[in-house]
Amino acid sequence: MASAIIIGSGIAGIATALHLRSAGVEVDVFESNDYPGGKLHAFEINGYRFDAGPSLFTMPQLITELFELFGEKPTDFFQYRRLKSVCNYFWEDGIQFNVDADRAVFAEEAAAKFGISAQTILSYLNNGQKKYELTAPLFIEKSLHKAGTYLSMDTLNAMTHLSEMNLGISLNKLNESAIGEPHLVQLFNRYATYNGSSPYRTPGIMSMIPHLELYLGAYYPNGGMHSITTSLYQLALRQGIRFHFNQKIEQIVVEKNKAVGVKTANNQHDADFIVSNMDIFSTYKKLLTTQSHPERTLRQERSSSAVIFYWGVRGIFTQLDLHNIFFSGDYKQEFTHLFEHKKLFNDPTVYINISSKETPSDAPTGCENWFVMINAPGDYGQNWEELVAMARQNIISKLNRLLGIDLASLIMAEDVLTPPLIEKRTSSYRGALYGAASNSKLAAFLRHPNFSNKIKQLYFCGGSVHPGGGIPLCMHSAKITSKLIISAL
Ligand SMILES: Cc1cc2nc3c(=O)[nH]c(=O)nc-3n(C[C@H](O)[C@H](O)[C@H](O)COP(=O)(O)OP(=O)(O)OC[C@H]3O[C@@H](n4cnc5c(N)ncnc54)[C@H](O)[C@@H]3O)c2cc1C
Repeated sequence: MASAIIIGSGIAGIATALHLRSAGVEVDVFESNDYPGGKLHAFEINGYRFDAGPSLFTMPQLITELFELFGEKPTDFFQYRRLKSVCNYFWEDGIQFNVDADRAVFAEEAAAKFGISAQTILSYLNNGQKKYELTAPLFIEKSLHKAGTYLSMDTLNAMTHLSEMNLGISLNKLNESAIGEPHLVQLFNRYATYNGSSPYRTPGIMSMIPHLELYLGAYYPNGGMHSITTSLYQLALRQGIRFHFNQKIEQIVVEKNKAVGVKTANNQHDADFIVSNMDIFSTYKKLLTTQSHPERTLRQERSSSAVIFYWGVRGIFTQLDLHNIFFSGDYKQEFTHLFEHKKLFNDPTVYINISSKETPSDAPTGCENWFVMINAPGDYGQNWEELVAMARQNIISKLNRLLGIDLASLIMAEDVLTPPLIEKRTSSYRGALYGAASNSKLAAFLRHPNFSNKIKQLYFCGGSVHPGGGIPLCMHSAKITSKLIISAL
């Protein structure tokens, strides 16, 4: 029986393990933390439960299909529901707008609120859908680094529509010309942050991202985001996948250009296939120190990171929903600070996720668990203690201003996550949330393939390799990687 070792139990590592196991491969997962899930983790302070990382759940079928691989009924182990309201937006000029999950309702309500025609919004969304449907089978669901991908009807079809993909202009420029109204331009610009990029640099093709949320839907897993990790981890255990926690891999053993095993501080473990779910930069720089490195790929600009305050807050805030955004008064400056100056902006866009709105037991009675996130530059050695103190003050005064509250006096419990901590806990280079940024039209092609060109039997999965970061793309990377391995069995 063929054997595989997976380095890391991030969500893509677990999914790859499951795909391989379903093909009869013996799988061992080595994880440096004492828990599975990587960024998709959770913790509790003083009766407040927090999802540590992801909060937005799209494309649930990519999770449920993993249960089906083994003939299990997904709803016996993992339940979720579609959200009726996608996000609640607040602007500095006092305007507030709740985005309905039904795109026709959203278009009608946005048209009435912002004085543009509903048809303009619907055409924009339909155009995004077309981009998604033309490119997903090519750019997301297959390896971009195998000749077969380019010899398909999907590719031909996408190529004939290349000029409609808006690759030559930024998302912001596209939104200004297609939508025009400044609040809605900002709302649609925000989708660039779903892969950690700047709307002023990422190409207009990214206008496909709203399609995921406003057509395919935004969901909430019962019990919170962490139930994605726990349910898949339990499935993996039931299927005989072996997990080894507190086992940091220090080297990938390569013999005659072939990966044959991994080394921890004390032992060597051998297998037929090695899959790294560790960030690609860290994989090369820490585990493959004696091999040649694809420097151009590793130099690719990293996605944004984040500073997150986990606040247990006294009170129930009826004006807030599960997902809430408080926009910066100067979005362009915010991204210039993040990507050019590598600094935090003093009027940041603030995202608040409150899972106790959906799962009341996530907070004590009469309280809420606020996951308060601002975009941040990667870690370039800035003074994070100083930056966090400044961010805390700026966020609190912004929320006091827009919600008419005295937030500091309501915070009952607190924890903070910073870019260096994200790197420390997951090996994500510079604390990037989504691997490489998509700030250029070539970014998709520059991401590292799901396999090594130089070292046989070595593969890669997760947010830092093709097709990119975020749970849905990580699930696709697991599918692509495992398919490559299974075809080599
Ligand atoms: C704050 C935050 C918010 C986010 N929001 C969203 C969101 O709303 N929606 C969404 O879809 N995505 C979101 N993302 C992105 C999403 O979390 C990631 O893309 C995804 O979870 C990455 O999974 P992964 O499998 O690539 O690995 P990771 O989660 O990065 O895990 C890698 C694993 O490898 C282990 N490892 C590393 N080095 C070694 C070693 N040497 N030996 C053994 N083990 C090792 C690590 O400990 C870790 O467990 C967010 C991320 C963060 C941090």
